[in-house]
Amino acid sequence: LTKTVEGELDKASYTKDNERIYIHLNAGLSADTNIAVNRGVDGVGLYRTEVPFLLQRSFPSEEEQTSQYHSILATYPDKSVVMRTLDIGGDKPLPYLTIEEDNPFLGWRGIRFTLDHPEIFLIQVRAMLKASIGLNNMDILLPMISGIAELDDAKVLIDRAFDEVSQQAEEQGFELQRPRLGIMIEVPSILYQLPLLKGRVDFISVGSNDLTQYLLAVDRNNARVANVYDALHPAVLNALKHIIDAGKQMGIPVCLCGELAGDPVGALLLVGMGYRSLSMNTRNVAKIKYILRHITVQEMESLAQLALGSVLSVDVRTMTTKFVEDRG
Ligand code: PEP
Ligand code: MG
Repeated sequence: LTKTVEGELDKASYTKDNERIYIHLNAGLSADTNIAVNRGVDGVGLYRTEVPFLLQRSFPSEEEQTSQYHSILATYPDKSVVMRTLDIGGDKPLPYLTIEEDNPFLGWRGIRFTLDHPEIFLIQVRAMLKASIGLNNMDILLPMISGIAELDDAKVLIDRAFDEVSQQAEEQGFELQRPRLGIMIEVPSILYQLPLLKGRVDFISVGSNDLTQYLLAVDRNNARVANVYDALHPAVLNALKHIIDAGKQMGIPVCLCGELAGDPVGALLLVGMGYRSLSMNTRNVAKIKYILRHITVQEMESLAQLALGSVLSVDVRTMTTKFVEDRG
């Protein structure tokens, strides 16, 4: 079986009835993006830029960031690489930056931190843009957006960085394309503002890890409440369904990059809800492609419909496990 599953690595992902599913990678370390391991993926759906920051003893310089980002972009010259701006705080503290708060997950993290430190944000965005000169395969993703003001403020800074770097690129004889801009859907407030995203973003990426944490008011890393943290809670599933429906209605591409995408049951439910783009850790890619290749969209739709109508998470778990077992 392992051999069969590994045979999936080179192939694009299709369901049993030949519906194309786009599989992207979640990455942070350059080792994750080793092209030898990741031939059959459709690009990088989430590059977590915290990782290079975590590996340093102080904030990496613009040059250091540029070279790190360039090596990732150059690994996938013909595919898109979604680079998320710094998402520190919460579960991702930097050793050289002390933030003391009672509730770090509700505090100074992600876009909140970088908008309060535009100099850090601008250095990072300039480094991303410089890294993509000559490649033009980079998209920018903003984490922890809770309302439109944060998006608008970030855009002003990104435009400023773009003007500077595109002029430099032109002087070197390159045309820098404006990167596509997206936001993470992971703070529940934005679920009620999705129609406002039309014309404001080029794509959205669902962070099911944080969305689950914030919808259920449960710390994603606290073992004591691990039984409450459940991405298969019918409320979470209905939120995910709402997002994909809204994305389709607005004509905005939607990817889901939380752990749920790399979980066999999660992937089946997501495709059944209408998701066609999933981003996951390298180790899950072959397994998910293998499973999807053996099940039709219609079967996944029926399963998702039952799950969305369930009262209890345990019912979702029982029916999905049975579904997978019945199919070997
Ligand atoms: C998420 O929240 O689902 C996500 C993909 O981002 P992170 O796990 O880095 O917070
Ligand atoms: Mg997140």
